[in-house]
Amino acid sequence: MATTQSAPDAYSQLLAQCREISLLSGTSALLAWDQETLMPKGAGERRAEQLALLASLVHERATAPRLAELLAKSRDDVARDGDPDGERAAVLRELQRDFDRATRLPASLVTELARTESQAQQAWAEARQRSDFAGFRPWLERMVALQQQKADCLAIAGATRWDALADLYEPGMRAADLRRLFGPLRTRLVALRERLADGERPDDTFQRTRIDAERQRGFVREVVAAMGFDFDRGRLDTSAHPFCTSIAGDVRLTTRFHDDNVLDALGSTMHEGGHGLYEQGLPREPFGSPLGEAVSLGIHESQSRLWENHVGRSAAFWQWCWPVAQRHLGAACDGQSAQSVHALSNLVAPSLIRVEADEATYDLHVMVRFELEQGLIGGDLPVAELPQRWNALYRDHLGVEVPDDRRGCLQDVHWSCGLFGYFPTYTLGNLYAAQFAAAADQALGGLAPLLAKGEFAPLREWLRENVHRHGRRYLPAELCQRATGAALSSEPFLAYLERKLFDVYGVA
Ligand code: ZN
Repeated sequence: MATTQSAPDAYSQLLAQCREISLLSGTSALLAWDQETLMPKGAGERRAEQLALLASLVHERATAPRLAELLAKSRDDVARDGDPDGERAAVLRELQRDFDRATRLPASLVTELARTESQAQQAWAEARQRSDFAGFRPWLERMVALQQQKADCLAIAGATRWDALADLYEPGMRAADLRRLFGPLRTRLVALRERLADGERPDDTFQRTRIDAERQRGFVREVVAAMGFDFDRGRLDTSAHPFCTSIAGDVRLTTRFHDDNVLDALGSTMHEGGHGLYEQGLPREPFGSPLGEAVSLGIHESQSRLWENHVGRSAAFWQWCWPVAQRHLGAACDGQSAQSVHALSNLVAPSLIRVEADEATYDLHVMVRFELEQGLIGGDLPVAELPQRWNALYRDHLGVEVPDDRRGCLQDVHWSCGLFGYFPTYTLGNLYAAQFAAAADQALGGLAPLLAKGEFAPLREWLRENVHRHGRRYLPAELCQRATGAALSSEPFLAYLERKLFDVYGVA
């Protein structure tokens, strides 16, 4: 009697479905990358159609009833056969989360959100240009109401509406946890800002020196290659706003060059390079499994901020980097030194605009938005009162007066795109980065001597071993505990920042 080959089990079939979804998503990511880097303007309309079609194909597959059947069958199989290393259970947990997210919002709400986001974004862009909050207000009111509905569909037992939205970006993170982290952080950062005002401000001539873009490109490319970014599985190009995106098997970074301010190009490149190293460090097989995907935005941002700040703004790094800079940038480096450029890279200047903020004040911008979102989504803060409340918080946290709404509550695109619960992931990234850097420093017997010699591999491998290789296996809080031996705290970040900035500014 001929034997028939047995059909693949439910779990293998499930992973095969995920593989196809990832292939489609990667195709869409490639088209989006092209749109930001190389695409001629005239191709915009069809490109939008292509992206919309791919998005609907992905959504169709991600919400297919067949997927729910395979998930249920796989769970039964795991219950029967056991799962000694817990790997399958983690994959099923994450796939169920994805499936629930994709199916919990009624189609009518998804359509309404998409339409409102697109219109609100246009209204926001116009309102910002004219600094006209009244013009944006009805759109923001509509958006807040839709986000409240969205939160009710995504409801998490024992959690607030805002929590349900934030969970989309940082699984498991709650506003109550953030308040515990943000309390001491705010007090010490405000005190730090005030202390530094009496210190010695770094000379900023180098920042204003004009440097040819080609020279800047050669310089930042050498740095990101030294970090260990694999150019056989990645590229570095330019775009208006730097970003990192993963295609299917390769990683695209972008950066930008101004006529001056090479430190901006370096910071952007190291930042995106950190994101890129995370993507390249994720397990490659099985392709499409959650074990090969980034776990959260906060953890992703920790990888970028670690390379940008803990490496790129350290004195040890500049010992190695200064001769590299001199080789590429030539006469622009005359009159400067590793010490002066290190000091400049740590310039602190409280400002109105989050995206231009330095390391010491950035999180204060985030905390303002966190507090306002609690009020908006929780229903305690009417949209009409937003500008007043915004300006008061900026005075309190950053010590600056907001002259108009363009430089105030209209500065960020996020709320018009429906991104509520998103901002804190930036600060979580900073806190995770400091805690990872401190753990790596301890494990490697001191990072500084390695960085001073341009030896980045030990740090990269530590991150790979303790963070990257786990993909979505553990939720962020557990990943942090496992990698650093402690729950997330603001203390490592504050200790690092105070130590460095007191030294740079000469305040004891
Ligand atoms: Zn980033």
